[in-house]
Amino acid sequence: MNRDEKRVLTCIVCPNGCRLTVEKQAEGLKITGNQCKRGLAFAEAEITHPTRTLTTTVRTIFPQAPVLPVRTQGEIPKEKIREVMAFLNTITITEPLGIGAVAAENVLGLGRDVIVTSDLLKSGA
Ligand code: SF4
Repeated sequence: MNRDEKRVLTCIVCPNGCRLTVEKQAEGLKITGNQCKRGLAFAEAEITHPTRTLTTTVRTIFPQAPVLPVRTQGEIPKEKIREVMAFLNTITITEPLGIGAVAAENVLGLGRDVIVTSDLLKSGA
């Protein structure tokens, strides 16, 4: 973000979805539009090092659940999401993992595991 540049963001911290305006000025970031302090922290992080929790699915060998919902256990850099998605597209679950089980450990060395978020394989649904 360059000095005097202005960006408009939607805060995703709570359902209010405040429309935040961030301006880079000589004295630092000027953030307006937030209804609480969490919006300030969100906007600052979004500008300096945006992160997201990735929620997706991975393939399995089980006909009753050919794909299984998973998510990163915590947030990862936003710019790595495409790379992590590409990696997850290469793996196949071969054991009947349940909620919380690790589907991919320390994915791409980012310090985050990818965990299962469904008991589809446990329930035999
Ligand atoms: S600024 Fe505060 S109130 Fe507004 S969406 Fe973000 S967390 Fe919610």
